[in-house]
Amino acid sequence: MEVRLQEAKDSIRDVIDFPKKGIVFKDITTMLKDAKHLETLVDTLYNQYKDKGITKVVGLESRGFILGTVLAYRLGVGFVPVRKPGKLPSPTYSEKYSLEYGEDEIFIHQDALDSDDVVLLHDDLLATGGTAKASIDLLNRFNLKNVFVNFLIELDFLKGRDKLATQYEVDSVFHF
Ligand code: AMP
Repeated sequence: MEVRLQEAKDSIRDVIDFPKKGIVFKDITTMLKDAKHLETLVDTLYNQYKDKGITKVVGLESRGFILGTVLAYRLGVGFVPVRKPGKLPSPTYSEKYSLEYGEDEIFIHQDALDSDDVVLLHDDLLATGGTAKASIDLLNRFNLKNVFVNFLIELDFLKGRDKLATQYEVDSVFHF
């Protein structure tokens, strides 16, 4: 890995037992607050996706909004949020998914995308893959031309990638 990317990776803070016991939380705020790391991340992602014909970036609430929006701006395309319950005001599609305890649901506006779109789906972290799988299922409602799936961080040992079982290209900047 390039030195500046390695430095960005090293700046991610591990917070033990947050939000509950047994979880090692990957805190990206320590990386994002540094202008040099932010530039490295945006440049890296821009170079990776600039020639893929992306027409929209879809970001997952809420940490997927941070770089998702910057990346959309840099790619010269629009940004679409995937949101938690009760946030989107117009007609939506939704997908339920299981959490460790119980269920959650994510939403997207029905008029957010159409079949001509090539989407870059972005979130901060791939853990078990439940959130990303539900997001891909949401995107599949639109019959899109193509989808690229991107995470800043992938926790390889949780094998979330296997759960995605998608034909789309999945890539992560940092692996732990
Ligand atoms: P999952 O559905 O299990 O892949 O979880 C992914 C979502 O949960 C992402 O949107 C992350 O923001 C969050 N998440 C899960 N595990 C962690 C972790 N260890 N550190 C930081 N965020 C996490």
